[in-house]
Amino acid sequence: MTTPSRRQAGEDAEVIVVGAGPAGSTAATYLARAGLDVLLLEKSSFPREKVCGDGLTPRGVKQLIDLGVDTREEAGWLHNKGLRVVGGGITMELDWPDLASFPPYGVVRPRQDFDEMLANTAKAAGARLHELTTVTGAVTDERTGRIVGVKAKVGPEKTEVTYRAPLVLACDGVSARLALSMGIDKRPDRPMGVAVRRYYASPRTKDDYLESHLELWDRSDPANPQLLPGYGWIFGMGDGSVNVGLGILSTSKAYGTTDYRALLRSWLDGTPEEWGFREENATSKIGGAALPMGFNRKPHYSNGLLLVGDAGGMVNPFNGEGIGYAMESARIAAETVVQALARPAGLSREHALAGYPARIEQSLGSYYRLGNIFSKLIGNPTIMRTATKYGMPRKTLMKLVLKLLAGLYDPKDGDSFDRIITAATKLAPSA
Ligand SMILES: Cc1cc2nc3c(=O)[nH]c(=O)nc-3n(C[C@H](O)[C@H](O)[C@H](O)COP(=O)(O)OP(=O)(O)OC[C@H]3O[C@@H](n4cnc5c(N)ncnc54)[C@H](O)[C@@H]3O)c2cc1C
Repeated sequence: MTTPSRRQAGEDAEVIVVGAGPAGSTAATYLARAGLDVLLLEKSSFPREKVCGDGLTPRGVKQLIDLGVDTREEAGWLHNKGLRVVGGGITMELDWPDLASFPPYGVVRPRQDFDEMLANTAKAAGARLHELTTVTGAVTDERTGRIVGVKAKVGPEKTEVTYRAPLVLACDGVSARLALSMGIDKRPDRPMGVAVRRYYASPRTKDDYLESHLELWDRSDPANPQLLPGYGWIFGMGDGSVNVGLGILSTSKAYGTTDYRALLRSWLDGTPEEWGFREENATSKIGGAALPMGFNRKPHYSNGLLLVGDAGGMVNPFNGEGIGYAMESARIAAETVVQALARPAGLSREHALAGYPARIEQSLGSYYRLGNIFSKLIGNPTIMRTATKYGMPRKTLMKLVLKLLAGLYDPKDGDSFDRIITAATKLAPSA
């Protein structure tokens, strides 16, 4: 028996997904697997570069496993077993915690390859991927203001095309062009980050740990060096190269005035010569981008549009991780849309769609609110310095910090640390 299409006259798909990064490809995969006709619109063509640290904590790996991706080392994934933290004159290796909710390993994979793999997963599930298709804005119903499609420029000729569908997922990343075209601005009271990264050929390419350097000094005014809220990372890629970068929070005075590329160079110039982080070993340019954190763009659902991943400010304000959260929100968005489209258009469908922001809030809201407070606190150099100095020598405390910063705790039936974190998130004031 063939199922009659649910597409109405004039519609090009049942759902349009804008952007084929981790959020868009994940959402499109789940939607297509549920039998929906999905149009996935992407401005670039694969494989394409994406500026990133290329690291996934177990929280991100869980999302890959949920999606059905084989993350074993035999399948070509480079595993890591924890985080090496360097700061306050101390180096400490902390293994990923043993939890019911998350696997005990993280992975590293270049985004050039990672994003193409996810887009291919979406295609294999039946999503129709249109590359070289730049969405320029929403098409709305004049009467209701509801999104009914998108306008796009297609191909090298930039031919203007309109695509129509009753629901649209904005997965277009930090630029959030589609949300902006619907009048959804970013919230100035939420933290932002800026991160830069570069690849080097380096003997440090094989490493069982992701490495994180907590002390980033801005020495542009030698008389007054500033400790910045953020961290530097060194992630071995296993193929002879290393992804090295740094991220800074918007909560410090230095934000917006710092030359991040110069800061990266000055940090790396101070690392041991034998690590190879010198100009002659660089295998890429320095790339940088903003990190939208702590739900800095809301509402996550309105007028037929769902904001997913970076477009909805889903980066973790504690550690700048965004891939896993983009995929997590994508899964929730897809499940919500599947339920919504099984109902007649109108009140009942809207009721189902209101479930998306509610579920996002339930799974991440209080944790992110706590993260927003944390990011404000460490924006104060004295607090940052004190926390590094007194926290670093205490391994038990650092294990708790790792769980908190990487969101790696079991909200139910966890150990005493997990209960402390769960209790702390409940204390975070609502906003
Ligand atoms: C330097 C740096 C390092 C980082 N390191 C890490 C890390 O190690 N681990 C981690 O988890 N996170 C990291 N992040 C964050 C992470 O990169 C993002 O959170 C993640 O990519 C968000 O996924 P997304 O799908 O929401 O958006 P994106 O990955 O930005 O994907 C958006 C997609 O939409 C497409 N698009 C954009 N506009 C349009 C348009 N108008 N029309 C059609 N398509 C469009 C883009 O081409 C892209 O393919 C880092 C970020 C930076 C800047």
